[in-house]
Amino acid sequence: MTDDILRTTDLTKRFGALTANDEITLSVERGEIRGIIGPNGSGKTTFFNTVTGFYEPDGGSVHFDGDDVTGWKPHRLARRGIGRTFQIVSPFKNMTVRQNMLAVQTEDGSSREEKRDRAGEIMEFLEIDHVADNEARGMSGGQQKLLELGRVLMLDPELVMLDEPAAGVNPALESRIMDHIHDLNDDGTTFVVIEHDMHVMKTLADSVSVFDSGNHIAQGDFEEVSQDESVREAYLGGTTAEDDEVPI
Ligand code: ADP
Ligand code: MG
Repeated sequence: MTDDILRTTDLTKRFGALTANDEITLSVERGEIRGIIGPNGSGKTTFFNTVTGFYEPDGGSVHFDGDDVTGWKPHRLARRGIGRTFQIVSPFKNMTVRQNMLAVQTEDGSSREEKRDRAGEIMEFLEIDHVADNEARGMSGGQQKLLELGRVLMLDPELVMLDEPAAGVNPALESRIMDHIHDLNDDGTTFVVIEHDMHVMKTLADSVSVFDSGNHIAQGDFEEVSQDESVREAYLGGTTAEDDEVPI
C-alpha cells in the first residue's frame, strides 16, 4: 500500500481564458523526492502556488497528510507542514541572515532562545553560519537560495516544495544544495522539486512528473519518463528523435 503525503485530484487553475493547470491529478509518496519537469509555461509554478494556497483553485482538491486542505491559506498550510520556496528569491535585504531566519513566524510555542538555537543549527547545517550577521543583500544568488531553504526549515516541514533550487547557482553551491536535500530526505522530509537541469533531476529525483500545457502528462522514474513518447513530443514538438534523453 502506498502512503501518500500529498494528493491532488483534478486540480484546476485558470487565468481568464488560459487553463494553467488542467485537472492535475498527482500523488507524492511520503519520503520520496519527486521531480517536476516541463517546458516553460507548462504550469509547474502555478501548481505550487495552488497547492500552497497562494492561488485559489478553480476546481479539484488538495489532500495533505490525510486532511483535505483545499483552499487553505499559505500561512495555515505552512504551519500544517508544507514548506515552499519561490522561483524568485526575496529575502529581506536590509536585514542580516540571522534576522531573516528569526523573522519566520513559527508560532509553535517555542521561546526566543529555542528559536535562536534552531536558527543557529539550521544555518550551521546549510553552512551559512559564517555570514549569519551579514546583511542578506551581500549574499550571492545561491546563498540566498540556501537562506530561503533555511527559512522554510524553521517551520520543520514534512513536505518541502522547491521551485528551481539550482537555477542561477554556481556548480559548487548547486551540489551543496543537492547534498542538503538528500540529507534532509534521509531524515524523513519529502520533497517536490521543479528543476530544469536534467542531470540534477536524474541524480536527485526518485520519480518524475511531467507537465505540458497545463496537463500532467507522465510520471515514472527518470529513465521511464525520458523514454515516454508523449514526453518526447512535448519537448520536441512532435518530431522523432533517436537519442535517449529528453533534450532540454
Ligand atoms: P512554469 O512554471 O511551468 O514555467 P507557470 O505556472 O509559471 O509555468 O505558467 C503557466 C501559464 O500560466 C503561463 O502561460 C503563464 O503565463 C500563466 N500564468 C502564470 N501565472 C499567472 C498569473 N498570475 N496571471 C496570469 N497568467 C499567469
Ligand atoms: Mg516556473
